[in-house]
Amino acid sequence: MIKYDPHSMKAEEFINDEEIRNTLDYAKEHKNDIKLIDEIITKARERKGLDHREASVLLACEDPVKINEIYDLAEQIKKDFYGNRIVLFAPLYLSNYCVNGCLYCPYHLKNKHIARKKLTQEEVAREVIALQDMGHKRLAIESGEDPVNNPIEYILECINTIYSVKHKNGAIRRVNVNIAATTVENYRKLKDAGIGTYILFQETYNRENYERLHPTGPKHDYAYHTEAMDRAMEGGIDDVGVGVLFGLDNYAYEFAGLLMHAEHLEAVQGVGPHTISVPRVKHADDIDPGDFDNSLSDDMFCKIAACIRIAVPYTGMIISTRETPEVREKIIRLGVSQISGGSRTSVGGYAEAERPHDTEQFDVSDNRTLDEVVNWLMRSGYIPSFCTACYREGRTGDRFMELCKSGQIQNCCHPNALMTLKEFLIDYASEDTVKLGEAMIDREIDTIPAQKVRETVRDRLTKIENGDRDFRF
Ligand code: SAM
Repeated sequence: MIKYDPHSMKAEEFINDEEIRNTLDYAKEHKNDIKLIDEIITKARERKGLDHREASVLLACEDPVKINEIYDLAEQIKKDFYGNRIVLFAPLYLSNYCVNGCLYCPYHLKNKHIARKKLTQEEVAREVIALQDMGHKRLAIESGEDPVNNPIEYILECINTIYSVKHKNGAIRRVNVNIAATTVENYRKLKDAGIGTYILFQETYNRENYERLHPTGPKHDYAYHTEAMDRAMEGGIDDVGVGVLFGLDNYAYEFAGLLMHAEHLEAVQGVGPHTISVPRVKHADDIDPGDFDNSLSDDMFCKIAACIRIAVPYTGMIISTRETPEVREKIIRLGVSQISGGSRTSVGGYAEAERPHDTEQFDVSDNRTLDEVVNWLMRSGYIPSFCTACYREGRTGDRFMELCKSGQIQNCCHPNALMTLKEFLIDYASEDTVKLGEAMIDREIDTIPAQKVRETVRDRLTKIENGDRDFRF
């Protein structure tokens, strides 16, 4: 019998199948145990998080009154730690060449009817110019796994190109990387190239199902994939982003697995994941989400987000354009801190006038432009933020968590959000968005607690109007 041990470096011990199954049984047994649920909610109110068992009981809870309490608490914790800011980013697809056989992904090796494409450095620069012209400052680069077509040298060259493009007032100030699990040495190279977060989705924590869904290619190796974040951290990357592809397996199993992964990183690396992503399987070329009979309702999806928010209060949560505007509106309230906007999931898609579909990874369900997303966020009471300050100021890993815990975020992230929003309004926004944005900045300056910071922000906003850029705390 393999024993559960969050301190172990072995995948099967820190993500332990038996412990997950016992957790699900325990959660089922106690789903209407109001006394226990009240105790867990009381503990969650301390804002120090919950373990995977406690959080799984809340996820299983069926009492409508308690579910509302969970939602209210999630919303409050989000406000306390992240204020009303939402950070914006876009994915940039570099190459869809891939040697893996993932059954849910159209880039799988056996898909012979999808067009294969890999960007040249000139094409990367063209994509970056198009993204800068939308107003983006933060990207997540995406690539299939192919040691011949997309070796680490290619990824590093692309990162270098992305950071070097300075078009008008534009700049990409943070590149996050979502590429296949790799070696410590390669992670060190990514760190040296100045990446922000290294993102890798587990897809599913259920080993048996994982091996079935990844029948061929290097990604078949469950342990190598699951232990990737430890290697990334050994390579010096402080901020890692985890996630599962909801729909592939039982959501409650994935939820417990996600939290166990976070507990493991906290136990052995001293810091949990920087972000958790919650993608759901989508229709794509050669892919029918109906083939995976674990789809979950929008309501359950939102409940998962709320339970993640209260279980790991200091971990950012990301929602992509896989979701519709309606679902995004609902779920943001419950704890999301970052969203993508104006996304194109095809290789070379941003430089095209019309959204191309031939190399797309999945169908996008929120097709609005970045300006429309920014406008919508403000109408819903959120401050769209293009801030990239933390990792550039060395606030990564536990130093970022400290900032979160100290309550200094309101003197730091909040002004950074306002100053980067101001840049967006001047350089890229439509007339209506400018009007909304200026009013929002005026209102929100007054909520900066420290008077000195408030004065500095006012001064910097004037400087931004006069052409200066890239101020940060
Ligand atoms: N090749 C890298 C890897 O294996 O991790 C990068 C991943 S890929 C470009 C980004 C993510 O897209 C995958 O990890 C997967 O979760 C997600 N994805 C793949 N097919 C999808 C689909 N049909 N619908 C939604 N998301 C999908």
